[in-house]
Parts: sequence; structure tokens; C-alpha cells
Amino acid sequence: MTHEIAVIPGDGIGQEVTPAAVEVLESLDIDFEFAEAEAGDAVKAETGEALPQETYDLAASADATLFGAAGDTAADVILPLRGAVDSFVNVRPAKAYPGVDAVRPETDLVFLRENTEGVYAGHEDRLTQDVSTLTRVVTESASERLAEFACDYVSGDEHDGFTVAHKANVMRETDGLFRDTVRDVADENGVETDEVLMDAFATRVCLDPTQFDVVVCPNLAGDVLSDLAAGLVGGLGLLPSANIGPERALFEPVHGTAPDIAGEGVANPAATIVSAAMLLEYLGYDDQAAAVNEAVEATLADGPRTPDLGGGASTEDVTEAIIDRL
Ligand code: ATP
Ligand code: MG
Repeated sequence: MTHEIAVIPGDGIGQEVTPAAVEVLESLDIDFEFAEAEAGDAVKAETGEALPQETYDLAASADATLFGAAGDTAADVILPLRGAVDSFVNVRPAKAYPGVDAVRPETDLVFLRENTEGVYAGHEDRLTQDVSTLTRVVTESASERLAEFACDYVSGDEHDGFTVAHKANVMRETDGLFRDTVRDVADENGVETDEVLMDAFATRVCLDPTQFDVVVCPNLAGDVLSDLAAGLVGGLGLLPSANIGPERALFEPVHGTAPDIAGEGVANPAATIVSAAMLLEYLGYDDQAAAVNEAVEATLADGPRTPDLGGGASTEDVTEAIIDRL
């Protein structure tokens, strides 16, 4: 079976790390068909559009999309692209790697963040000079869809249920609905859950991240708390993410375009290659995904390393070392 993969490198180091991840995918014995498309600042400067229609259409029809990064136009690119795959959950693992400096090297977390509503649903108003308001939207249907995904996600041997992070003691209607819906779906599926207030979570995860494993969050909480966890594992540079929809998905590194090092050929490709491993898993190639993750882990531990990790290797050196280990 052929899998069509949309490849959208975007701007800055996206142009360097995305091809590196494609090289890794090409080194596997899987029938991929890659189709590349443009998005971001560079294409906007040329054509006036940050996200050309053909790029959107490609993401909306491919089996999966690998995205790099976009500069100033990031919001005009990534939000519609997430829409193109109808993404309802953002999966963000935050795991420390042996040999990479981390505040909490024992961190191994996965955030499942609601990706469509909450305060980011965008109902903001400026009522008067003095007063602005924001309406928060939480629906039973979106909470259910997220919870079903979470139940499925923890169904292997690796996880004992999940934690629901919320603030239902204050936001009784919205987070109350979120918490109750997620808990009900988990109960129906025989999945164990516990819950934590999101503010308490912030403290507890810093003191001891091993208390948590898979964390299910509303949109804003997931955004903030997963960035906090990124700090615990040594920054955004190594973190992958997945935007999952019912029929397709988009994978991207958490970092941006890194304009300070773009064009030098020294960007660390690890986050994008691990994002490609998530793509493999999504398509059902669990063994290959595990092999890619192991090869990345070994390379981060033993080198070669890019300058951000104190080494002197290029993006290409690191990519080749990962492929050799595969
Ligand atoms: P953007 O607006 O596109 O997010 P930024 O200036 O915020 O750009 P980021 O890409 O978010 O830059 O990166 C923040 C810092 O981390 C920069 O100093 C960048 O060089 C570094 N960095 C990010 N990703 C990588 C990577 N893959 N390899 C090496 N360094 C990285
Ligand atoms: Mg940034």
C-alpha cells in the first residue's frame, strides 16, 4: 500500500530539518510517495499568499503531512493546516534524552491537548474602552472525541490510564463539562483516570514529573503545561508533535524557524525526525517508529551532535548517523 505524504518544509531551518526527516523515512522499506508544497514567509513574499490553495489541498488529501516551520506567517499557515486535517487533538510528548542536559532528566510525559476550542475558539470582544471579554467554548462532543482518543492512546501495556488536568473548581460549567465528559468516556472504556487542578499540576510536575504519564488537557492548559514540560526536558529543540484528525494527521517539530542559525546547515534534525517517527506510528508502522526513536536516542547520547548540544556536526552528519544506526 502506498502512503501519500505531504511535505511542507516552510521557512528557516524548516528547509533543513524537513528534508532530513524525509531522508530517514526514505531509508525505510515502506512505500511512501512524497509530494512537496510551499508555505510560509518566502512563498508569501513571492505570491502574496502564505498558504497557497494547492498546499492546503495537498494536506487535506494526503495520508499524512510533515511540516517544518513558518516564520512571521506561522499563524496563517499552521492554524489552517491543522484545519485541513480536521485535527482535534495535539499530541505532545515531553521526554528527556540521556546525554542531553535537562532540568528533570527523569521526565517522560505525553500531553493530549484539545485542539479546537476552549479560549482559543476566538470569541473575543472589546465592549468599551475599559472592558474586553473572551467567551470560552467547551463542548461535550469535542471532549468526547478527545477522551476516546486518549482511551485508545493508553490501551497498550505502557500506560496505566491518564490524568485529566483542569480547573473545574473555578470554571464549573466549562471545565466541569470537560472533566465529567472525559471521565465518563474513560469509565465506559474501563480506563483508569485521576484528575489534577491545572495550577497544582504546574507545581507538582516541576517537583516530580514521574507522578504523571499521559495528561489530557483543555486547549490553553495543554499549550502552557506542555511548554512548561518542554523546559523540564531541556527546551523546545528536541520535541516532536502530532496534530491528529479522524482521517489524516500533521506532524511537526515544536520549535520554530530558528532564524539565528537558518541556512548554516547546523540545525538539529532530531525533533523533526522524532515527529516522523510519530507519523510512522500513526500509519501503523510501530516497529519502524521504535527503531527510528532508538536510533535518535543513541545518536543524541553518543553523537555526532549539532552545535545546540555542544557538538560540531552538521544536520547532514547527524541525519546520516541516525540512518546508519537504523
Ligand atoms: P520562530 O518565530 O520561528 O519560532 P524563534 O526565533 O522563536 O523563531 P525558535 O525556532 O523558536 O526561534 O528557536 C528558539 C531558539 O532555539 C533559537 O535560538 C534556535 O536557534 C534554537 N533552536 C530551535 N530549534 C532548533 C534546532 N532544531 N536546532 C538547533 N537549534 C534550535
Ligand atoms: Mg519560537
